[in-house]
Amino acid sequence: MSETKVRIQDDLYEAVNGEWLKTAVIPEDRPTTGGFSDLDQDVERIMMADFAAFAAGEKTSDIPEMQYAIALYRKVLDVERRNREGIAPALPLLQKLQGIKTVDQLNDQAAELLIEGADLPIRMEVTADMADATKHAFIVVGPEIILPDTTYYGADNPAGKQLLAIWADMAAKALAFTPLSPEEQKQYLDDTLAYDALVAQKVKSQLEWSEYYKCHNPMDVEEVAAQVAPFDVKKLLADLYGADAPKILVVYDPKAIREMNGYFSAENFELYRHWAYVKALLRSTAYLSEELCALGRTYRRALTGVASDPSLEKQAYQTVSQMYSEPVGVYYGRTYFGEAAKADVVALVKKIIETYKLRMQKNTFLAAETKARAIQKLSTIEIKMGYPDEIKEIWSKLIFDEDASYLEAMQSLFAVRVRDMLDKINKPVDRTEWLMPGHMVNACYNPSANDITFPAAILQKPFYALSQSVSENLGGIGAVIGHEISHAFDNNGANFDENGNLKNWWKEEDFAAFKELTRGMIEQFDGIEFHGGKVNGELTVSENIADNGGMGVTLEIMHTLPDPDYQAYFKNWARVWCIKAKEEYIQLLLANDVHSPAVLRANMAPRNFPEWYDAFGVTEKDRMYIAPEKRISIW
Ligand SMILES: [Zn+2]
Repeated sequence: MSETKVRIQDDLYEAVNGEWLKTAVIPEDRPTTGGFSDLDQDVERIMMADFAAFAAGEKTSDIPEMQYAIALYRKVLDVERRNREGIAPALPLLQKLQGIKTVDQLNDQAAELLIEGADLPIRMEVTADMADATKHAFIVVGPEIILPDTTYYGADNPAGKQLLAIWADMAAKALAFTPLSPEEQKQYLDDTLAYDALVAQKVKSQLEWSEYYKCHNPMDVEEVAAQVAPFDVKKLLADLYGADAPKILVVYDPKAIREMNGYFSAENFELYRHWAYVKALLRSTAYLSEELCALGRTYRRALTGVASDPSLEKQAYQTVSQMYSEPVGVYYGRTYFGEAAKADVVALVKKIIETYKLRMQKNTFLAAETKARAIQKLSTIEIKMGYPDEIKEIWSKLIFDEDASYLEAMQSLFAVRVRDMLDKINKPVDRTEWLMPGHMVNACYNPSANDITFPAAILQKPFYALSQSVSENLGGIGAVIGHEISHAFDNNGANFDENGNLKNWWKEEDFAAFKELTRGMIEQFDGIEFHGGKVNGELTVSENIADNGGMGVTLEIMHTLPDPDYQAYFKNWARVWCIKAKEEYIQLLLANDVHSPAVLRANMAPRNFPEWYDAFGVTEKDRMYIAPEKRISIW
């Protein structure tokens, strides 16, 4: 890499990535390039070539479920049929929604509509119970809003107003394709916007959602039923489950349910039914003619700043790789992920967990009992590396009628998935399920299972390569692994025990000390100016704690290496966060994302550690210096 003017001591991110930033071009159909996004594009390129070969019959896969994925891929590409049919495949569901004139009629058909993918006045799902992770819970949440967050609805938010106008224009154009009269179209749209504005006053903000352990609010079904009336949740449950219907529901957003008659009631039922119609119409556009499909992406393009939609082949691959995510991920893993790399990274994860335990033992703010529980939690973390050995049964049920239109095929596939999710309610949780497929460039910690998942696709350069030095790998995938493990002890994860149950295992004074450190982390990031906005320290605290933990633990391992290269470690840390993004997308993330901007992730974490100062001789004269008393290391 050629010389840059920026000194590493002043701006690690710029010094490492500056040359790249000068020339990098964001693809037309993406909001970002660099880092994660580059890997994602590489995976997409490889997989698109494979799917093209599958579709042409030049290649076959021995994974049975891949046959369905390939059939769906061909269906997406059949634009001649899609364009010929236009809006027609969407009409049955739209007409059904139009036929619902009263709350009673809605209640009669609610179970069916839920499975068909229509928007009910409340959203529902079945997932692992936070209080007892061996069982499932029936979850109740308020409706989704149009704008990215409740904060966008304020009169003082010009971006919100602008985005809503773009959304409304898109909806008006889509409504023009329906058999509704122009007067009706206008009424439907006005009512939709009115309903959305009412909902936005009641539902949680992104900041409130970021404290997810607070979602656990179990309530008796009778109590929920009284709150959501006249919507009849008991009838819905009886229609879905008969005598086995759950008696306790978990309310994730209590205010949205308690104050539901602020947006849903018999008197303003018109607002709801027109909103549900417009929502169903817009969701359908993704699977209709090319014209409707492009129209339905208008809002997303504005939100993320992308100039154009992905090519047809790319859209086909993206749809298929989401609908059949596990088989596609297993195909990717078996084809492109080596066993040597897998074994190497599993060993690294184990090493990181062991090092965490050592650090816990040395911890100065926890009592012995709390340390023992934390170490127990570390000892029971399950590692999911690369891709699953087996494909779960559900994926073989995702079959559609060969003669179906694209939309009909998708509707029937979604229905199978919804039914499968709902049917889990009285079954034990299967801990061998994977939350992320093998072809996804990401990683995660699941507090309910106390497990970490590293899909095959992230185990590549610059995160990881057998050809990179150990120091570089530690600054890349090592810090990411440490980050995910830290989520077991961030402000959310700390509330779950080693079995994934929401349970307080802390001594009171220990938790208070942890809270104090958390406060320091909030202050370290809160209000940092970025692209005309400010970082929200509270929204991003769990991820900032995780970055801090990931760096702490991997630097500890660096000390044990025979020839540690700290400069290489920090440089690769900065390299993995390199990103160039559309301004609209930067603003969207700043308002919504629980992660701090990538530039700050690269530049903030190092300055909390003495190794950073030693590696580059950083002093108080340099911009990447903070005074020792302000440095934070939590785990
Ligand atoms: Zn994270």
